Amino acid sequence: MSKVFVITGPSGVGKGTLISALLERVPDLELSVSATTRPPRAGEVDGREYHFLDPEDFERLVAQGEFLEHATYSGNRYGTLRSEVERRLGEGKSVVLEIEVQGARQVRDAMPEAVQVFIAPPEPADLRRRLQGRGTDDPDAIEARLETARRELEAQDEFAHVVVNDEIERAAAELERIVRAELGLESSER
Ligand code: 5GP
Repeated sequence: MSKVFVITGPSGVGKGTLISALLERVPDLELSVSATTRPPRAGEVDGREYHFLDPEDFERLVAQGEFLEHATYSGNRYGTLRSEVERRLGEGKSVVLEIEVQGARQVRDAMPEAVQVFIAPPEPADLRRRLQGRGTDDPDAIEARLETARRELEAQDEFAHVVVNDEIERAAAELERIVRAELGLESSER
């Protein structure tokens, strides 16, 4: 049975790392490639990390109803294309969406059967360290992301599953357990 998994939580909480671990551990699970208007970071490839779009193209797709959800985050547009999700479900794969909280709420309304997991930091101070350590955002951008993160943390009660990313291996195992249980797969030996 194919399912859609929404992995949400504050930027910098480690969603990407946990999802990479998850994709390696669970078969027939694929990440949906989002569209965004933010410029590519060093090393990011169009069509791999994101579909990088001009604002005009993004809004045209919004008007055409091509997005399952879309949101503005730190001044840029992000969205999940319906085609990304439908193609994979059509191939019998399950799909992971890595999205921020506003988008997760939209998916909850549009697709109540999707499984929603909120990734929370062990303590907010960790977020600043990680965003700074990542070195991809300037100080103003980090402050903006932390402010957004503070609001996002208040949202965690809305989600069926909350995984605290205190330690990567433990959190990845917990996420894997949730996904395997939802898919009716045997738990792994790890
Ligand atoms: P970043 O710019 O760091 O890649 O992403 C910023 C935030 O946007 C992250 O929290 C990320 O999960 C979220 N995001 C990425 N793709 C999407 C999407 O398709 N829709 C929504 N709503 N958020 C997204």
